Amino acid sequence: MIYYFDNAATTPLTSTVISAMTEVMADNYGNPSSIHRLGRQANKTLRECRQTIAELLKVKERSIIFTSGGTEGNNTAIQGYALANQDKGKHLITTSIEHHSVLKTMSYLEERFGFEVTYLSPQNGQITAQEVKQALREDTILVSMMAANNETGDLLPIQEVGQVLKEHRAAFHVDAVQLVGKALVEPEELGIDFLSASAHKFHGPKGVGFLYANSLHFDPLLHGGDQEDQRRASTENLISIVGMCQALKDTYSHLESNSKHITKLHDSFLESLEGDNYYLNKSKQSLPHVINIGFPACQNSILLTRLDLAGFAISTGSACTAGTVEPSHVLEAYYGKNAKELSESIRISFSEQNTVDEVHLLVKEIKKIIGG
Ligand code: PLP
Repeated sequence: MIYYFDNAATTPLTSTVISAMTEVMADNYGNPSSIHRLGRQANKTLRECRQTIAELLKVKERSIIFTSGGTEGNNTAIQGYALANQDKGKHLITTSIEHHSVLKTMSYLEERFGFEVTYLSPQNGQITAQEVKQALREDTILVSMMAANNETGDLLPIQEVGQVLKEHRAAFHVDAVQLVGKALVEPEELGIDFLSASAHKFHGPKGVGFLYANSLHFDPLLHGGDQEDQRRASTENLISIVGMCQALKDTYSHLESNSKHITKLHDSFLESLEGDNYYLNKSKQSLPHVINIGFPACQNSILLTRLDLAGFAISTGSACTAGTVEPSHVLEAYYGKNAKELSESIRISFSEQNTVDEVHLLVKEIKKIIGG
């Protein structure tokens, strides 16, 4: 028996998603660009998926580009926009707590193309729109900020940054991989130009996502066929796109009840730990589905290994290489290099599939390990 508490890393497919994908696998195998009947059928399904996702996000169909996931969405928006617009300026702004698919794209642009990047760090535990405002320059062409952090669940001030950028020509990219499926996101309303999402974070398949892109010009990452309105070449991954569309429809129809349930899991986890020695790594506003928590009594690598042996799937949130936990760049941004929090903290992340009983079992096991 596995108790799965690593939903910020990825989520399991639901049965409705599996059925929708299986149906396409069996019968709808045409290439959406082929003109014969099977091709037209596949193309119709593709159009329906694009329409559904566009309606859920309240945007135009043409602004939804299917991708291979969050990493591709982030690379396309940042690299594609920066390279296509470098004649207007070579300054970019982001934060030091972004996912590596943003941070490494930024350093690629710095090292290979001479861009200058300002990395905003948390001040008193928060990154604010005021910091963005102060960092803006005449040659700033893009601001890239995540909607919610994958390690802490912290929400970033996307709405306020959208307001600030109304007065500046810089484009706004939001990595919304951890927010889509947890709360309503309306890019147009928020003044967002590019928004990346990934299906496997909301019970869809891995290796598929979408990028919302308004009418701003950017260079595609993949060159080749004319798919996705010439903005992303390659035959569309229809099976996964259908799975993603089903998963998004399902989460949107349960957003409120899921959020209530997950808040209950979050609260009962913390209530059961009352009296134990722990601290939370989070800012004032964060999503309830992630708890980043430190236990001074136990090193995180030992705690995770012992929890794994007891059947609990949990992670630190930072990358693991060859089974070793790497220090988290996010916690480093909050506490500084070599801070004790880096080796004491773990990330527990819930989905609506978790139950309160599972949470109690998890707390019992943690208490056993830390000696509480
Ligand atoms: N951005 C954030 C905030 C993430 O949490 C992740 C995945 O963990 C990604 C981007 C990358 O998404 P994908 O795995 O679909 O490439």
